[in-house]
Amino acid sequence: MQKLKLFLFLLFVLSSSLGMAQAKDNAIISRIVEEATGNSQLEKLGHELMDGIGPRLVGTPLMQKAHDWAVAKYKTWGIEARNEKWGEWRSWERGITHIDMVHPRVKTLQGMQLAWSPGTGGKTVTAEVIILADVEDSIAFQKWLPSVKGKFVMISQLQPTGRPEYNWKEFGTEESQEKIKKEKARVTEEWNKRISKTGYTNRTLPVALENAGAAGVLMSYWSNAFGANKIFGANTKKVPTVDISLEDYGLLYRLAESGQQPKISLRADSKDLGMASTFNTIAEIKGTEKPGEYVMLSAHFDSWDGGTGATDNGTGTLVMMEAMRILKKVYPNPKRTILVGHWGSEEQGLNGSRAFVEDHPQIVDNLQALFNQDNGTGRVVNISGQGFLHAYDYIGRWLSAVPEDIRKHIETRFPGSPGGGGSDYASFVAAGAPAFSLSSNSWLYGTYTWHTNLDTYDKIVFDDVRNNAILTAILVYMACEDPEKTSREKAVLPVNQRTGQPGRWPEKRSPTRKGGLD
Ligand SMILES: [Zn+2]
Repeated sequence: MQKLKLFLFLLFVLSSSLGMAQAKDNAIISRIVEEATGNSQLEKLGHELMDGIGPRLVGTPLMQKAHDWAVAKYKTWGIEARNEKWGEWRSWERGITHIDMVHPRVKTLQGMQLAWSPGTGGKTVTAEVIILADVEDSIAFQKWLPSVKGKFVMISQLQPTGRPEYNWKEFGTEESQEKIKKEKARVTEEWNKRISKTGYTNRTLPVALENAGAAGVLMSYWSNAFGANKIFGANTKKVPTVDISLEDYGLLYRLAESGQQPKISLRADSKDLGMASTFNTIAEIKGTEKPGEYVMLSAHFDSWDGGTGATDNGTGTLVMMEAMRILKKVYPNPKRTILVGHWGSEEQGLNGSRAFVEDHPQIVDNLQALFNQDNGTGRVVNISGQGFLHAYDYIGRWLSAVPEDIRKHIETRFPGSPGGGGSDYASFVAAGAPAFSLSSNSWLYGTYTWHTNLDTYDKIVFDDVRNNAILTAILVYMACEDPEKTSREKAVLPVNQRTGQPGRWPEKRSPTRKGGLD
């Protein structure tokens, strides 16, 4: 009898302390939701970052401005923050691009110089537009090359349609859908042949053209969506490389092809500013019980600069900043230390996060968990265990605290397989640290906004971003409070279907610490 009484008493004590922990969790979680919905800062932060500061290309003055803005913002919330230098990059500043067709009629064209493009030296250059010749071989190309002197040369194919595939599917007959698909494949294949017959690649051809005296290089990297072109970096060193919208590029191409000898006037300004230091912005809320263990929020801060990097990765940035602000307010004394990493130069190969992993082994070794978000504005719909054998236990535990209206959208995959790249969590996974990707639904991210001129404030879906800020804050809270340290045991990876070899864990890689010089 006595023993049974004691047992029942202990059971009572245990269950009531569990009950108390649960009650504390519930209270904090409701306050997270309240703060995120009743006092959201997302719209304001989004406006300041995307509209006020703008795109954040590595090495540019605007990237630096964004780092300084983030540090100042954290300080206003009472959160300690700093910019940590990890390398340097060629510094370039985008100026205006004005493109007008002036013959056979006048039309202002839509387009912009690529990142790191040389300008027109403060002048407006007017010249004829010609199409890259379809030659027999590289010898014939060398013979043709002098004819580019003083001309703008088009180096992209003509698109057979300006309508995206989904539009054809909705309105086209089956026959016309089939036909346009074949036509697109044919034109692309022929254009690739045209390039390779020159003896150059897409990378080296622009340099051959400028060395032969071309006035500039014109291209059009259509993103298979209405109005969207992808804007990357220029390969030319002396004359501008300009991307022109599908519609206007097609116009010039067809006029040149039909012998109308179109002419454009181009003014492109840009500044080369030498080398600039590159940074990660790190902010921190110190842990009380286990300050030497870390829970991290993670999102790259840099972007391409055709738009303002709103969904890549302005929205991931907003999620992490807002989650930090909320946590500081409702959970100011976390058990473990909370860190956020706003990485520089993800776009050139995860450079900021790889540098952090290399420079902070003590943090990486004591990482409880990291949550990264970087695939658009959508609500989180997928979380993978990244190949960690016991991820199911802890992620499952933490997710169970997330309100049903957020959790119901999320599909989990355990143990999953380790991500080898794609975004910054992979830098940590490669080091064997439990890092996870909060993966969003698409909102047609891949075609409309990813690295395009349309990646702007108006594409942000604030309700979904708010959903993600709440989710992140709760996961971070639960990971901080968890009595157990997370397991890093790796799952046996399935055999690689292609090679027939056992699956291998991705290798840790070093960042490029000095970039933009090639
Ligand atoms: Zn990204």
